[in-house]
Amino acid sequence: MTKINVTKTYLPSQDVYQSYLNTLWENTWLTNRGKLVIELEQKLTKNYGLNSIILTNNGTVPIQIALKLFGNLGEIITTPFSYVATTASILWENCKPVFVDIHPEYLTIDEAKIENAITDKTTAILATHVYGNPCHVEAIEVIAKKHNLKVIYDAAHCFGVTYKGRSLFNYGDVSTCSFHATKLFHTAEGGAMFCNNEDIYKQLFYSHNFGHNGPLEFHGLGINAKMSELQAAMGLSMLPEMDYVIEERKKVVDYYNTNFTSVDAIQLLKIREETEWNNSYYPILFKDEKTLLRIEQKLNENNVVPRRYFYPSLNKIKYVNSTQDMPVSQSIACRILCLPLYVGLTEKELELITKTIIAAI
Ligand SMILES: *Cc1c(COP(=O)(O)O)cnc(C)c1O
Repeated sequence: MTKINVTKTYLPSQDVYQSYLNTLWENTWLTNRGKLVIELEQKLTKNYGLNSIILTNNGTVPIQIALKLFGNLGEIITTPFSYVATTASILWENCKPVFVDIHPEYLTIDEAKIENAITDKTTAILATHVYGNPCHVEAIEVIAKKHNLKVIYDAAHCFGVTYKGRSLFNYGDVSTCSFHATKLFHTAEGGAMFCNNEDIYKQLFYSHNFGHNGPLEFHGLGINAKMSELQAAMGLSMLPEMDYVIEERKKVVDYYNTNFTSVDAIQLLKIREETEWNNSYYPILFKDEKTLLRIEQKLNENNVVPRRYFYPSLNKIKYVNSTQDMPVSQSIACRILCLPLYVGLTEKELELITKTIIAAI
């Protein structure tokens, strides 16, 4: 029996992909902002109403670029509940993560606790719209303005999400996305950064191409974060299929919701009001870790492989060396399990998953 994993990479039409590769062969141009990268930027901007976009080689380097520009080796207010890339980027840029606990239902950084964590060394806030669920962006903006801080959003999970009718990528001084193969929209490896300000755009743009400002001139320090034409070809092939992808994923989410909503022992993710969500992940919360481990084992016995996203709470990773205690995040990280969610899950498979969980709870 084949395994039902937490996710399965969606592959677009091979013919469409091949046709993009043909243009690549004709152009003999593989990277350095070729036609396909520019075409993908334009289509994403138009289809999703983006203020701006710079495509990148993955979803981690853009976080590092934003922190290089705004972190200034200072303290970065951040969430303990995210993928490790969020915290690791802060340490990589020689800044100090200062964790602020999360909201127990939305699972995003608890905006009410941010101001307490600000010191004269704080330079920026780096928060994650976890599972594509928006942070309280208005409250965070007010705090940032008041204390003269920059706001960076790790929006790795947010492809296609709108908040109050606008793309979630348009919020914050900089926001970043991942187009990794396991994400909703992908270019195998890849990502993007977004901003709303011409000056920041220029700084991001120079930074992602070695700081070049013309062939012989440099605006400043930079790195190589460019997306290649091969990656863009994958993205362009995925793009026409995204409505279908999100639609199919929604069916899976609806199935789970129908089966779990009335189960008191399971807590579901609360999506923030006025959000059009993208069905990117399906996390469920159990009452304790023991229950989670028992259910995970039962699922594994049935060839179902969910994932403990996100575990551990990032303040608990050894090399982070944090002395902070994050009771909500630590509790959630021990009790949360992401269920399989991808295009092509059959009703029979979904029935197996939900029945196994409900029987074992
Ligand atoms: C996937 C992910 C990243 C990293 O993206 P890559 O493209 O793999 O570098 C960063 N943050 C979060 C929250 C993620 O889920």
